[in-house]
Amino acid sequence: MSVKTSHLPYKTLIRRQVEDAGMQTAIANAQDTISANRQRVLDELGDTQSWRDRAAQLRHYVLENLDALLYQLSENVTHHGGHIFFAKTKEEATDYILGVAREKQAKTVVKAKSMVTEEIGLNDAFAAEGIQVTETDLAEYILQVARDAPSHVVVPAIHKDRHQIRQLFHDRLGYEGSETPEEMTRFVRTFIRGEFFKADIGITGCNFAVAESGSVCLVTNEGNARLCTTLPKTHIAVMGMERIVPEFRDVDIMITLLARNAVGLRLTGYNTWLTGPRQTDESDGPEEFHLVVVDNGRSAVLGSAFNDILRCIRCGACMNTCPAYRHIGGQGYASIYPGPVGAVLTPLLEGYQDFSFLPHLCSLCTACDAVCPVKIPLSALIRKHREEMVKQHIPPTSERMAIKAFSFLNSHPSLWKIGMVAGAPMAHWFIRKGRAPLNIGVLREWTRTRDLPTGDGESFRSWFRDHQKERKND
Ligand code: SF4
Repeated sequence: MSVKTSHLPYKTLIRRQVEDAGMQTAIANAQDTISANRQRVLDELGDTQSWRDRAAQLRHYVLENLDALLYQLSENVTHHGGHIFFAKTKEEATDYILGVAREKQAKTVVKAKSMVTEEIGLNDAFAAEGIQVTETDLAEYILQVARDAPSHVVVPAIHKDRHQIRQLFHDRLGYEGSETPEEMTRFVRTFIRGEFFKADIGITGCNFAVAESGSVCLVTNEGNARLCTTLPKTHIAVMGMERIVPEFRDVDIMITLLARNAVGLRLTGYNTWLTGPRQTDESDGPEEFHLVVVDNGRSAVLGSAFNDILRCIRCGACMNTCPAYRHIGGQGYASIYPGPVGAVLTPLLEGYQDFSFLPHLCSLCTACDAVCPVKIPLSALIRKHREEMVKQHIPPTSERMAIKAFSFLNSHPSLWKIGMVAGAPMAHWFIRKGRAPLNIGVLREWTRTRDLPTGDGESFRSWFRDHQKERKND
């Protein structure tokens, strides 16, 4: 089952998004602020390119040696008293987690932000089991109250402004305070603190698992992950199977780039390393620790033409620079992973059937390639998807016929020439007010927001010939 965050037809969805001026302003402000801060803290590093090269090499090494590193990780998790489970599918992952919850007779769960738990649909699985889940990251909590989906991998509620959040809290939670972030945060914190104490299980993601020690590294700005992992008796961490580094010292490079690229900070507020459950000489920590390693299609990507996307560390920098994301926001992608990374990753994990439109939500401007800290060639992978879809005959027949006709003309110079000579006067005669006389299909879509150029009836070749003559005569 694919986790689609909107079931609107994609054209309706995109139209809704481009008409949402409030969302676009919120996204533009966030993109501009985060990008400026990102650049400032990256400049402090000096030779940013060599940091990116090193990070890309490291992630490449991990993918090349993933089997051995996962084996080492599992040995070390077990050695420290934890349990590790490899889930081939999202259903296997949720079944395992629900199994632990049943064994613990869990009634309530607290959760820190984790995209992979969104990917496997964990909250719905808990709800079906009658287990109450409380999101403890502020943005995720806002979305939970709004019954909304995340629109960014780092700033999930980026599409909402403080007025909307205040109204939401008022309508759903009876909040009567002001719309200042501090007061609203205090209100939420008072409620969530109680949930931490009640919870039977704490769920977190895992930014990086360290193979040499079996540790999980959690990066947050609110400290909520620490409460999720220390107060409940059971901690379950969920990770995508590629989110691993060989040694502790490698986390240094990854965290340095993650925090700077994600939020424009030198370091996030809380960086936590956890190794297994609480030991006898430790004063806090869970009694039981489980690490769930999710495949969900990643094995098929590994070693394929799309292998490089598995280098992703979910920093969100590609979203923060993408002009398409700026216009349609994260919700326009209907995918847990939006923006350029989503345009590549989601069709791989979820298939083309529901997500064939994603690789087309890109102008191929390559801005994302320039910012990705692990040097993923995002635009090339997006193009690769388009090629792959053509090979699989996914584009509609009309589009395939149009491209075939264009290729035929383009590879026959005399026909092309006739087309150009005839096309210029035809465009001049027939195009009125930026519209073709038969304003249907793809032409109608194109001219919905743009005018067709009318021209003056002269072809480019004829203009160029005359222009050359004039230059010679000068
Ligand atoms: S693709 Fe690159 S820029 Fe985008 S989220 Fe992943 S690591 Fe960050």
